[in-house]
Amino acid sequence: MKRREFIFVLGRIASGFWPRRNTIIAAMAAMVLLPIEVSDAGWLSDVFKGSSKQAKSAKQVKSPKRVTSRKPAALAKSAASPKRRTVKLAALGPVGLNPAAFKPVATRCDPARFRIVLDVGHTAESEGAISARNVSEFTFNLRLAKRIEEKLKAEGFAQTKLLVTEGKARRSLVKRVAAANDLPADLLLSIHHDSVPSKFLEDWEFEGKKRHFSDRFSGYSVFVSRINPDFKTSFAFAELIAKEMKAQGLDYARQYSQAIMGRYQRELLNKETGVYRYDELIVLRKTRMAAVLLEAGSIINRDEELKMSSQERRDIVSSGVTAAVKEFCEPRWAMLGPL
Ligand SMILES: [Zn+2]
Repeated sequence: MKRREFIFVLGRIASGFWPRRNTIIAAMAAMVLLPIEVSDAGWLSDVFKGSSKQAKSAKQVKSPKRVTSRKPAALAKSAASPKRRTVKLAALGPVGLNPAAFKPVATRCDPARFRIVLDVGHTAESEGAISARNVSEFTFNLRLAKRIEEKLKAEGFAQTKLLVTEGKARRSLVKRVAAANDLPADLLLSIHHDSVPSKFLEDWEFEGKKRHFSDRFSGYSVFVSRINPDFKTSFAFAELIAKEMKAQGLDYARQYSQAIMGRYQRELLNKETGVYRYDELIVLRKTRMAAVLLEAGSIINRDEELKMSSQERRDIVSSGVTAAVKEFCEPRWAMLGPL
């Protein structure tokens, strides 16, 4: 919620126009119980790698519903779990409260205790995409995730955990989801680097060897799954990540919304910042906490690969992610009972 809108909402509360508490709780319950789309597509060796026999085309995926209401998304931001959400809503109290009963408190999340998992995409064994200069995506993911971890810890997010998984692609996905669910984490951010469908690949020679590249596309992208049990919070966090990436001067990958992507075409949820919907990703739909996947940039694009290899770009992306997490956790207004 933008600050301006938030002040407006506070004004509504103060002047007694806010809906009754039960109405809000009913609305939130309806959001939590959003119909879960049934899908047997359970692949993620990479966005573009490995078998995609089970992948459904964008047309096959049930017609998406755009999130048009800002209010539910903003309310969902108020907690990282349904349990906390109930507590927060109960705290809203009846209408007509004295504005003096509200004061800013940092109940949203305490950085020292907030458990964010940085999931390093792929494994040393199943490395994901291969860059234009023959470096594995796993290598890029690990370096970037480590930098993000450093920055988050430096900002007080002491419980930040790097999740590095071993093994083959499919099994490793199950493992990483189980590990995140067992922690349990409040939020999961999966770190990846992008490639292209093989039809776009071109040949070139690098260090005397034939390699593949595609300079056609570039940019970051952020994915959320509507099948995640806390889609609203996932989407809210994805919006923050994408907004901060854009604020760092980066452009998002536009191709995912285009028909040329075929079965990799995705619904663009935010055309300003680059949040896409990707329901089938296991790491997003099987995790019990809010989850977001970040493709930090394309490593099959020769120029962008060089940028993604630099400390400077890792710092830029890490700063964007850290700003998004801080914003996610920033102090909010809540009622504190008798003052
Ligand atoms: Zn990947």
